[in-house]
Amino acid sequence: MFESKIIRDEPLARHTTLRIGGPADFFVRVDSQDELLQAMAWARKQHLDIFILGNGSNILVGDAGIRGLVIENHMDLEQEHVSGDTLRITAESGGSLPGLANRMARRGWRGLEWAIGVPATIGAAVVTNAGAHGGSISDNLLRAEILEARGFEAGPRWWTRDELEYDYRTSLLKRRGGEFVVIRAEFVLEQDEAIHSIARMNRYTEHRRRTQPTEPSVGSMFKNPPGDFAGRLIQAAGLKGKQVGRVQVSTVHANFFVNLGGGTAKELLELVALTQAQVHREFGIELELEIQVVGEQRG
Ligand SMILES: Cc1cc2nc3c(=O)[nH]c(=O)nc-3n(C[C@H](O)[C@H](O)[C@H](O)COP(=O)(O)OP(=O)(O)OC[C@H]3O[C@@H](n4cnc5c(N)ncnc54)[C@H](O)[C@@H]3O)c2cc1C
Repeated sequence: MFESKIIRDEPLARHTTLRIGGPADFFVRVDSQDELLQAMAWARKQHLDIFILGNGSNILVGDAGIRGLVIENHMDLEQEHVSGDTLRITAESGGSLPGLANRMARRGWRGLEWAIGVPATIGAAVVTNAGAHGGSISDNLLRAEILEARGFEAGPRWWTRDELEYDYRTSLLKRRGGEFVVIRAEFVLEQDEAIHSIARMNRYTEHRRRTQPTEPSVGSMFKNPPGDFAGRLIQAAGLKGKQVGRVQVSTVHANFFVNLGGGTAKELLELVALTQAQVHREFGIELELEIQVVGEQRG
């Protein structure tokens, strides 16, 4: 019985890479499209909002948590079709993006190697236009099947890449926050020698190992402003290592804010505000958050 899967007051700190976040009033893990639709129908019946959670690696959840139903997406079926030296793969949105990138590269299909260290689900990567090392999800995406959260009974529709209106780390889906649910995405990859694809992945992994912290984080906190790097500006403003409570501007990479253990959303937001103010004072540049702040803060 599907309803027995729904949990009350689930601490979201357990489901975010920052290990921060208060409780979801209701929480459910879905493993298939059918379960996703049942979860959405249940929330509709209870007059609850829904929040789709991937791997929790691009969100800061408030200390008071999220009202309504949080649906953690684990749908991960794949289907592929090879034609000559291209492969079309359709992957459900709860699958791991780095997992897919790794499997494809090892079989000699190039295009997603950049994603090796990005802890994203495929659906969220389509929403956020995840990218690294000069590549991004929009480079290889052909189309995505998407539901409208409000009118989900009408069923999903395939959107072309152009309809998603991609830009640096954003899309129409992100700008219209929460209105749409990505069900699956279709990518096209090209044949290459596996040894080359694997070498590219290894280079990217090594680069991350050298330049990124290992403590819990949400990746890059701010978008890079045109022609510059947020990390460089934060470091130049003297904020590397700056701490508020148990959260810190990483000593390894200044655009990563890390949880030293027991950090709160309130502390992190204070550190964000302080960083934005200091960088603005020093350089006249407004740093824009790359992550999403969701849920409620404690009063
Ligand atoms: C160590 C580290 C390194 C990182 N490096 C990079 C990097 O190099 N490049 C990069 O781009 N990002 C990077 N990130 C950030 C993050 O991994 C990406 O933004 C990723 O796309 C988020 O995926 P997620 O599954 O964790 O999404 P979540 O954080 O769970 O969700 C993000 C948003 O997408 C929405 N969403 C999730 N799934 C769906 C869906 N199926 N349909 C509709 N909406 C949905 C959520 O509601 C939320 O609003 C990094 C993060 C960490 C912790």
